[in-house]
Amino acid sequence: MGTQSDIKLIEENGLRLDGRNPGDLRPIKIEAGVLNRADGSALIEWGGNKVLVSVYGPREAYPKHNQDINKAIVKARYNMAAFSVDERKRPGPDRRSIEISKVLSEALESAIMVEQFPRAQIDVFIEVLQADAGTRIAGLTAAAVAIADAGIPMRDFVTGCTAGKVNDKVVLDLSKEEDNFGQADLPIAILPKSKKIVLLQMDGDLSLEEFDTATSMIINAISRINEIQRNALSAKVKVDDAGGE
Ligand code: ADP
Repeated sequence: MGTQSDIKLIEENGLRLDGRNPGDLRPIKIEAGVLNRADGSALIEWGGNKVLVSVYGPREAYPKHNQDINKAIVKARYNMAAFSVDERKRPGPDRRSIEISKVLSEALESAIMVEQFPRAQIDVFIEVLQADAGTRIAGLTAAAVAIADAGIPMRDFVTGCTAGKVNDKVVLDLSKEEDNFGQADLPIAILPKSKKIVLLQMDGDLSLEEFDTATSMIINAISRINEIQRNALSAKVKVDDAGGE
């Protein structure tokens, strides 16, 4: 999050640098079941982001002392490929990816019926192949589809979106420039049926009024994004029915 609010990110006509209105999403495409060897998988393209998610499990948690006798443990691992950003990213976990893995694991655990699988582990590998702002939310949104694709019972989907503030204006779904040079970034994920918030982080600052505007924009967008998630799964079912892979 930059501090330079003087960088022009909104034109005189009110449009953003990529031509979007303040409340517009970038294009989103999700495909379920893209990998043959994983139990479930999904590929999401969200603006310039490309994120591949694979799911394994539920299987017996190992080492055994990690097991929870009451429920499955959900282990999401968020990883940025070395080639996902402009400058080659040093491979391996860092502070940021460890934090994101933790918050994504917790968000997913709220949606999965973990109590049906005591002593088990569900692994969710979130591989960012191309990063363009909003990767944690893109990864989480695809992870929900991959988990459903694996046939793991869920009480609800998990669907996310970000909003933020640029040039003193609240906008939906920040682009890379808006994320870098804007004044605030607010990723939120909810369970769309029960309307429960399962992830909320904020960088920068917003007034209470701006926060209200941002959350309304996000909630509105989430119903559209959830429809894309559902369509990805029903498209996959149709392919399976036709005997395809
Ligand atoms: P998110 O991707 O969830 O928005 P951040 O706000 O931390 O997470 O990052 C915003 C964007 O900054 C990322 O999507 C990516 O394009 C870029 N970025 C993050 N980490 C790095 C890094 N280590 N090197 C280069 N660019 C990065």
